[in-house]
Order: sequence, then C-alpha cells, then structure tokens
Amino acid sequence: IKRIGVFTSGGDAPGMNACIRAVVRTAIYEGKKVSGILHGYQGMIDKNIIDMNSRSVSNILQLGGTILKTARCLDFRSPEGRQKAYHNIKAEGIDALVAIGGDGTFTGAEVFSREFDIPVVGIPGTIDNDLYGSDFTLGYDTANNTVIDAIDKIRDTAASHDRLFFIEVMGRDSGCIALNCGIAGGAEAILLPEKETGIDELIAKLENAAKDKKTSTIVIVAEGDKNGGAYNVAKRVQEKFDFYDAKVTILGHLQRGGSPSSFDRVLASRLGFAAVKNLLRGETRIMVGLRGNEIVTTPLEEALRSKEFKLAEDMIEMTNVLAI
Ligand code: ATP
Repeated sequence: IKRIGVFTSGGDAPGMNACIRAVVRTAIYEGKKVSGILHGYQGMIDKNIIDMNSRSVSNILQLGGTILKTARCLDFRSPEGRQKAYHNIKAEGIDALVAIGGDGTFTGAEVFSREFDIPVVGIPGTIDNDLYGSDFTLGYDTANNTVIDAIDKIRDTAASHDRLFFIEVMGRDSGCIALNCGIAGGAEAILLPEKETGIDELIAKLENAAKDKKTSTIVIVAEGDKNGGAYNVAKRVQEKFDFYDAKVTILGHLQRGGSPSSFDRVLASRLGFAAVKNLLRGETRIMVGLRGNEIVTTPLEEALRSKEFKLAEDMIEMTNVLAI
C-alpha cells in the first residue's frame, strides 16, 4: 500500500473530522501518502480528490460535520458507476480505502472491494448506533448529549405549563437515541421503531401519569415509530385524551451537528488509528469498532447485520418502572 484514500459517506456525524485527522496522521506517520475523496462515492466518480498532509487536518478535531463533505450517490449503486470510480482512484494512485459511514457506505465498500480487489477498512460513523460489531458509532454520544439538552429545556417549559410534549428524535430504523435519551431525560413513554406501542397503550400510561398529578409529561417518539411520527401520535392521543395541552417538537437535523463530545473525539481517534494499522497489516473488508474498552474488527458482511441489532430489553422494561 502506497496511497490511502479516505472519505466520509452517508449521513454526517460529529467526530468524523477527528477521525479523518487520525487516519491522515497515522498513515503519514507510517510513511504512506493520503488522498481525501470529497463527497463520498460521488467524489470517486467525479474525480474530486485532494492530496492531504498532516497540516490539512490541523484544527479540525473539535469541529462537527466533515471537511471532506458527504453525499448519497446513486451512480455508485451501478457497476458502470463503480467502474468509473475505480478508474479514477487508480489514476490517482490510491490503492487502499478507509470508508467512514453507516450501513449503506459499508454495503458499497464491500461490493467495490470485491469487484476490484482493493483493500478497504470501514469506520462506523453514524449517529444511529445501528452497526453490529461496535458498542458505539461515531457521533452517537454527541447526538445523545444534544437531545438530552433539548429535553431538559423542554421539560422546564412543560412543567411550568402542565403540558404534554411529544419530542421526535432521529432513528428511522434504530431506537437507540430514543431509548437512551428517553431514559436520560426521564421520559414518561418512549416509542421505538423496534417495538410497536399502540395509541391505547400510550394513553393508559398518560392517564396514570395524570392521575398521579405529574406536572409535565414527555413522550419521546423515534422518527421510525410505526404510528407515523410525533405529529400523528399527538393528534391521535389528543382525540381521545384532553387532560393536558399537548405540544410537539421535532428536533430534526440539529441532532447531527455540533462539536463532538470528548467521548466521540477519543473514539474517532482510536478508530482512525486502528483502521490504518489494520489496513497496513493486510486486513481488508473489515470494520473497526469498540467492544468494552477494546478495539475489535468485524467482517463488513457481519457488521451489516444491523437489522439484527437488538435494544437492551432491561432498558425498555426500566423505562416503564422509572416513569411511575
Ligand atoms: P446513515 O446510516 O447515516 O444513513 P449510510 O452510510 O447508511 O449512513 P446511505 O445513504 O445508506 O448512508 O449510503 C451511503 C452511500 O453508499 C450511498 O449513497 C451509495 O452511494 C452507497 N451505497 C449504499 N448501498 C449501496 C449498494 N447496495 N451498492 C453500492 N453502493 C451503495
């Protein structure tokens, strides 16, 4: 391996910059050259590639977003698109890749690596925390802190007005943020994509809370909840239950931004460092991740079994107990 290409792809996540920095500096320390591929797979197809050195990643450790930009690239899904991408990166002398992204990014990386026999290591960068093979993904901790900060603020106003708030958080398929932040923010109920909660069941919980004279009630709704999002849930609840004045807040993209937490900066640095070390050791089609306090590797194929990712049952049970 002479030149490593690094890119970020799919949804951005806080900590991606700290990770790029770690990849670039580790590779240079090891005597390799580094190219930054802009806008994920789109940059391979458009030949939007820059040379990087240690100074290109100065002063970015603390920044949210990604200096390499990110994109969703339709062309890369076709063999013709990938052929063009390979032609372009080869012309740049790139002979190994570090891919920072989520499950879609890894699906693309896996296919590409097999088709053109190019070594690739994946780094889990997504606020969703939905990859098998790492306890945490980059950006998840920062996103949780952002959401909890928002819940605390909403709690202040909810308690002052005796209000019921529905707060929608990110997670189309994964309820990790909803569950974690629901617990950390003392939510009275949490609606998850992984677990169906009927409106009647939810109303029963809210009635109990009202009977017990709670001054505020917060329901966290993951965007992928089967009832169709916070506005729909609020509407259907209000049709049957009008004890409280109900309000809806959708946190949206603010959950993706912000300076990474110290946890995410350290995780990003460890994973970036490990990705390059593994590439140079001859490993390929793996994802680096954190299990316990150890850096581990998982074949990309296995990491993609995100659909089998399970939320901790004890946490789900606990939310009901602690909300009484
Ligand atoms: P997030 O979890 O934050 O959404 P992601 O990496 O899963 O991040 P996607 O948009 O699903 O985001 O995937 C990123 C890119 O990976 C896609 O835009 C596409 O270019 C590429 N990709 C995804 N699936 C495939 C596939 N089956 N074949 C080739 N490329 C793919």
